[in-house]
Amino acid sequence: MSVSGCIFCRIIRGEVPAMKVFEDDHTLVFMDIAGDADGHMLAVPKAHVKNVLDCDVRTLHRLMDTVQRVSRHLTENCGYDGINLLNASDESAGQSVPHFHIHIIPRKANDGVDAWPALPGAADPLEETYARLRIPGASK
Ligand code: 5GP
Ligand code: ZN
Repeated sequence: MSVSGCIFCRIIRGEVPAMKVFEDDHTLVFMDIAGDADGHMLAVPKAHVKNVLDCDVRTLHRLMDTVQRVSRHLTENCGYDGINLLNASDESAGQSVPHFHIHIIPRKANDGVDAWPALPGAADPLEETYARLRIPGASK
């Protein structure tokens, strides 16, 4: 996906309209058009990176700063109690727009929103999976 053809880059450049919630030099938050939950927003870096796997740490920090700032705005000023943050990194994980984005879904107690995926159940014993996935020498 080229930067010129990327829908979120086009929103960032102002070529495609979006309902902007927050913007600074490095990040933008705008309403998701999915219409699936009230308040569903997307936080993106202005730099075109695909996802968490290719994102440099400075861009990642700036994005997470913005995510926290908007999340606090939603809970402190807009009547929400909590926040779901969702991200799909890579098509295999369900990423449909190849420009890094964090979904922000504001929540109220008993709002009926189910933002947690129904997972299929683990196929392998936990200990086996742990042995395969742990980073040797990286825990104390
Ligand atoms: P993903 O499936 O990659 O995690 O999420 C992509 C999100 O981008 C979807 O929730 C979708 O509704 C949203 N989206 C796709 N195109 C546009 C657009 O042109 N404008 C806005 N505001 N959101 C979009
Ligand atoms: Zn882009």
